[in-house]
Amino acid sequence: MLTEWRAGFQADPVPQRRRAHEAWLLEHLRRHGRASRAELVDATGLSRATVSALTADLLAAGKVVVTETPDPGRLGRTPQSLALNPAAGLVLGLDFGHTRVGVVAADAAHEIVGSATRPYPRSTPWETRCAIAVRLARKVLGEQPDAALAAVGIGIAGSISDRPAVVEAIREAFTAAFGVAVRTDNNARLAGLAESVWGAARGTPDVLYVRLSSGVGGAVILDGRVHRGRGDTAGEFGHVCLDPTGPLCRCSNRGCLECYVRVESVLAHGGVTTVAGLAEALDRDEPRARAAVTEAGQRIGLVLAGAGSVLDVATVVLGGDLAALREHLVRPVRQTLARHLHPDKVDDVTVRTAELGDLDGALGGVALVLHDPSIAFTGPLSPRHLPGSA
Ligand SMILES: [Zn+2]
Repeated sequence: MLTEWRAGFQADPVPQRRRAHEAWLLEHLRRHGRASRAELVDATGLSRATVSALTADLLAAGKVVVTETPDPGRLGRTPQSLALNPAAGLVLGLDFGHTRVGVVAADAAHEIVGSATRPYPRSTPWETRCAIAVRLARKVLGEQPDAALAAVGIGIAGSISDRPAVVEAIREAFTAAFGVAVRTDNNARLAGLAESVWGAARGTPDVLYVRLSSGVGGAVILDGRVHRGRGDTAGEFGHVCLDPTGPLCRCSNRGCLECYVRVESVLAHGGVTTVAGLAEALDRDEPRARAAVTEAGQRIGLVLAGAGSVLDVATVVLGGDLAALREHLVRPVRQTLARHLHPDKVDDVTVRTAELGDLDGALGGVALVLHDPSIAFTGPLSPRHLPGSA
């Protein structure tokens, strides 16, 4: 999109071009949080002098603030980063899991200013889940009474494209409660987006994210953006077929990846009942546990090698319950990827476990809003955030 803006404004008069470049810098900061002037030069392709002049104007206008980035390992001056003025407003992110809701509030500078989770029984109807979530969100926001809410981003477990009534009910509940724009998406996909913004794949534009829990979902992030696909179902790694004569999957196909690597299957195969128990058995190098995780890792790696070859992506993040197995799972996934990816890509293979923990889906809700240019921040600029003030 930025490239299009750039091309479109190349022949325009100077003030219009300047506004476009300014919007470009603000868009970069909104998507990535903080950035140094050198990073803005790299990201935008603008000259150092242009970035300096534009950021000086944005600082004077209070749209951008200077943040110090502490780096204990670095001697000398702390490098200065720029961020959107946090007083521009807040974003709420929510994640409706099967048995709990998570809420995160973050400001325009990507700082998390509040978070909370509440459990509910699996059988809880959506109306009750929404009421619990709205109360929790109000409590989190109540800790920031002066901040204007810009929008709400909500993740929902499972496919959302085949449950329009549920999505509509959630949107209505939050629109009525907060009177702002509401965006929704699958929570596994949002967890992947959050890992690419704040977590294990921060700074990496192209990422394959797989969430390994009771269900197996994921996200395809290309050029820093979630790839959704024609029917909004992209990233369904769990329903890639490994064996057309395999077990029946809940999606009605046979031999899907999810049938073999959902957490319950791996635990049963490993002869344990919890992921912590499996990790302990792996630490003791018990053959049954090792075989279960090696086979799961090989199957996951095979599916990712196919996706990675088609999309030319070699960075993988493993999330969900099985991510707690860390290197025990990463190793067979990495080995299988390296074996089956195109030889040109093997040196670039990176496999990591997720870093954001339980609030990953709610953080993804925040990122969903921050990455949506149709949502504007409208909050007032408070004096304490203006340049020159402490
Ligand atoms: Zn399936």
